[in-house]
Amino acid sequence: MNSSKSLVFASNNAHKLEEVRRILSPREVLSLNDIGFYTEIDETGMTLEENSMIKAESVYNWLRANQRADEFDVFADDTGLEIEALNGQPGVFTARWAGEPVCDANNRRKALSELADKTNRNARFRTVITLIQRGEKQQVVGEVRGVIAKKEAGGNGFGYDSLFIPEGYDKTFAQLPAEVKNSISHRARALAELAKIIK
Ligand code: IMP
Repeated sequence: MNSSKSLVFASNNAHKLEEVRRILSPREVLSLNDIGFYTEIDETGMTLEENSMIKAESVYNWLRANQRADEFDVFADDTGLEIEALNGQPGVFTARWAGEPVCDANNRRKALSELADKTNRNARFRTVITLIQRGEKQQVVGEVRGVIAKKEAGGNGFGYDSLFIPEGYDKTFAQLPAEVKNSISHRARALAELAKIIK
């Protein structure tokens, strides 16, 4: 077994890379920029599983075409917010729920207005990670359940953080210290599962 293979994470998001490197340390994790992959990947899937697979396969196929697939294993993530009273929406459309260009503040406003007349405010964040390891494809999932607050609170984080109160807490992700969020988040849980299957 070749345990020195580097991992490529199909992202250039600095915040995610830092989190991933911390959790997978001492394994080296490279970004798309690091390997010279500059192609825009079209996320055309209808599920988080499909989009996560599309991203991982795009990079893996590119590595194969460039005879570099033996050097690296690849993984990709995709995350969605699934709101129970909205039949799992926005799900795969979480980033662009309020339309283009992507705007977190508009997305949060939309969440509040869609839930204005709903008593069930249960929701979950779900992250699907696809790993392609020596050509073998595997998926792992991490989720955190919670509720959508009635109004925004807190200044930390990004995306829907100021609206999401995780189960067992009375504060939003944006009010909780980053260490707390990072220990219970959907992404942290998916990454912990990923760490278990990386050889
Ligand atoms: P991505 O697949 O990680 O890019 O996530 C898609 C969208 O989900 C982001 O644009 C955010 O709006 C939202 N999102 C993902 N992770 C989080 C989080 O930890 N907190 C709040 N929103 C998030």
